[in-house]
Amino acid sequence: MSFKLDLNIENYFWESRCCMGCAMCKYGDWIYAPGIAPKSKKFIHDFAWVCPEWQWGKFDNWGATGRTRLINALFVGDLPWDEPLIHEAAFRCFSCGACDVGCKRNLDLEILLMNQSLKVALVERGFARPEHKGIIARIEKSGNYYGMDQKIRKDWITDDIKVEDKADVLFFVGCWASYKYPEVAQATARILNKAGVPFMLLDEERCCGSLMYETGHLREFRIAARATLEKIRQSGAKTVVCACGYCYKALKVEYPKVLDMATSDLGFEVVHIAEFADKLRQEGKLSPKEELKMRVTYHDACSVGRLSEPWIPWEGIRDAEDWGKLKPPRQFRRGTNGCYEPPRNLIKAIPGIELVEMFRHHHNAYHSGEGGGVLEAYPETAHFAADWRLREADEFGAEAIITPDVHSLHMLKGALERVETDTVGKVYHIAEIVDETYSG
Ligand code: SF4
Ligand code: SF4
Repeated sequence: MSFKLDLNIENYFWESRCCMGCAMCKYGDWIYAPGIAPKSKKFIHDFAWVCPEWQWGKFDNWGATGRTRLINALFVGDLPWDEPLIHEAAFRCFSCGACDVGCKRNLDLEILLMNQSLKVALVERGFARPEHKGIIARIEKSGNYYGMDQKIRKDWITDDIKVEDKADVLFFVGCWASYKYPEVAQATARILNKAGVPFMLLDEERCCGSLMYETGHLREFRIAARATLEKIRQSGAKTVVCACGYCYKALKVEYPKVLDMATSDLGFEVVHIAEFADKLRQEGKLSPKEELKMRVTYHDACSVGRLSEPWIPWEGIRDAEDWGKLKPPRQFRRGTNGCYEPPRNLIKAIPGIELVEMFRHHHNAYHSGEGGGVLEAYPETAHFAADWRLREADEFGAEAIITPDVHSLHMLKGALERVETDTVGKVYHIAEIVDETYSG
C-alpha cells in the first residue's frame, strides 16, 4: 500500500491496525528509572509516565494506545466522525511526541503523525475546538498570538541592545518573547551582542503559526509558513536564531513538512540560541565569568529536544505482504538527535553551578503542559502536566529549573504559584542564565 509521511489520516490505517496495546507509549525507558524517588522515597511510578494526557485521564482513550483504537473504529465505520469522545481525545493531546519515541522502541509506527493527522481530519470536518478557532482568527487579524498591536512588537529592544539593518544572522523572536517575556528576547540579543555577532530582525515579523499546526489547522498554517519563509528568504539571512522552542520547531521542522520539502531545502539554517551560544563558547567568543552557586535541573522542552530533528520527506510503499516493510527503506526520526547537549554544556561550564538530571530527560522528557493547543482548550490538563514536572524537579532538590523554551518557562512559572515546593524557587530560560553569567 502506498504511504507518504504527511498529515493525511488515510496514511495511518496501518498504525491503527498494528498497535498491539503494549503501552510503551505511556512510559519512559525503564532503563533510566532508578526505582525510588530520592526525596519522597516513593516508587518511581509517579515519574515513569511520559504521556501527560494519559497520566491526567487515566483511561486508554487518553493517549496513543486508545487513540489508535478510536481511529481504527473511524476507519472501519464503528464510530462516526461526530463522536465527542474522539474530539476530546484528539485535542487533549499535547503533540509532545513522547508516545512516538516509546512506540518506535517496539514497532516503528508513526504515532505522532497519526495523532496530528486526526486533528487535521477533525478540523477539516468542522470539529475544530472553538477556543483554537478564536485564537487563530486573532493571530490572522493581528499578526500575533495576543492580538496586540504589531507596532509595539519590537518594544522589548532596550537602548543597550544593538540591532543591525542587515546581517547574516536573523533573530526570529516570536510572539511570546516579543510581548510577554521580553527578558528572554533581551537576553538572547545581549548574548549575540557580547559575542560580537551582528544580527538583524525581520521588518514585520508575524506569528510563526505554531498553534495552527499544533491544533490541526493545516490550511491556515501553510499560509503562515509560506509568508514567513518568503520573508526570511528575502532578508538574505544565512542563519535564523530562535529562543522560543515552538518557533524553532515550526521553522526547522513543520514548515518543511507542510510545504513538502526537507529542512535542508529551506535555504538557511535554523538554530536554537543554546546551540548558537555553545558554538560561540567553543570558539572562545563567549566564556562564563560569573560564579553561580546553585543546584539546577534542565527541562528538555520537546520542541527543542525530540521534536527538533530535521524533517526528511519520504514516500514509498508499506508492503503488507512483507511484514509491512517500508520500501525504499527510510531513516526514522526517533527523537535522539534533538538539541540536548549544547544547553547542558553551557550550564556545566558555569563555575559553582551543579546540574542534576530529573528522571525523565533527553528524548524521554515529560512535557511541561504547553503544546497541542491544550492550554487554550483544556487548561486543567495543561496545568496538571506542568505541576508534575515541577514536582519532579523538586524531588531532586533543584533550586531552579532551566528551560530552552518560552512556553515551558510560562508553564513552569505558573506551576510554581500552585505547587508547594521544598527547593525549587525559580525558573529560567537558558538565555537568561547565559546572559547573566557569560561575557564576550
Ligand atoms: S507503543 Fe505503539 S504499539 Fe504499543 S500501545 Fe502505544 S501506540 Fe500501540
Ligand atoms: S503526543 Fe504526548 S500527550 Fe499526545 S498521546 Fe503522545 S505522549 Fe501523550
